[in-house]
Amino acid sequence: MSNISQNIKQILKEIPQSVKLIAVSKRQPDAKLWEAYDAGHRIFGENLVQELVRKNNFFPKDIEWHMIGHLQKNKVKYIVPFVHCIHSVDSLDLLKEINKRAEKVNRKINCLFEIHIAKEASKFGLSSQGIIELLETISLYQFPFIKFSGLMGMATYTNNEQIVHQEFKMLHTLFTNIKQTYFSNNPDFKEISMGMSSDYKIAIDTGSTMVRIGTTIFGERLSK
Ligand SMILES: *Cc1c(COP(=O)(O)O)cnc(C)c1O
Repeated sequence: MSNISQNIKQILKEIPQSVKLIAVSKRQPDAKLWEAYDAGHRIFGENLVQELVRKNNFFPKDIEWHMIGHLQKNKVKYIVPFVHCIHSVDSLDLLKEINKRAEKVNRKINCLFEIHIAKEASKFGLSSQGIIELLETISLYQFPFIKFSGLMGMATYTNNEQIVHQEFKMLHTLFTNIKQTYFSNNPDFKEISMGMSSDYKIAIDTGSTMVRIGTTIFGERLSK
């Protein structure tokens, strides 16, 4: 059995069955994706549109692709024909564009709002205030081709587990409040995408429903 298949098995043992494991294959050689695929894994995450499009063309069609990286409006059209879920919705403009492009291909796209929970300034995402302002501005009926599925967040990159724990808890609380206020009649709004290689155990403890794990499965990535 390959390392990759063993790594996936190990993680699946550690997380509850209800939690979805997204194997983050960005900047990994195709041979490694094949190993995961041959081991039976079908859920992959990418953060660049070009790479995602190439891999979707190249790999079997039963793969469920997740877009986890920052998404520019002008690239939405390339991924809506096949993408399963977009984790990185962080503006009203982007939401409108996804809805518009999804209508053209008659697909309803699972979307998560990306929330900025980390202390680092460089990361993308809406603030807690920003997501509420956005939801106050719109009517959900304006977006028939969006399946509002939940929230996504990335914790600060730190060894301090307390900080990570706090940030994930904050995301969980925000999720609960938003669900209650805006999505109480919407069973689709149920996902909290949080947890990466370094912090997925903490994420599970704080209510994650989707973990996005790259290096723990595949090893170090190729440099950019
Ligand atoms: C790269 C990436 C991951 C996976 O990171 P690892 O530390 O390799 O597990 C998860 N989420 C996002 C948004 C990423 O860009």
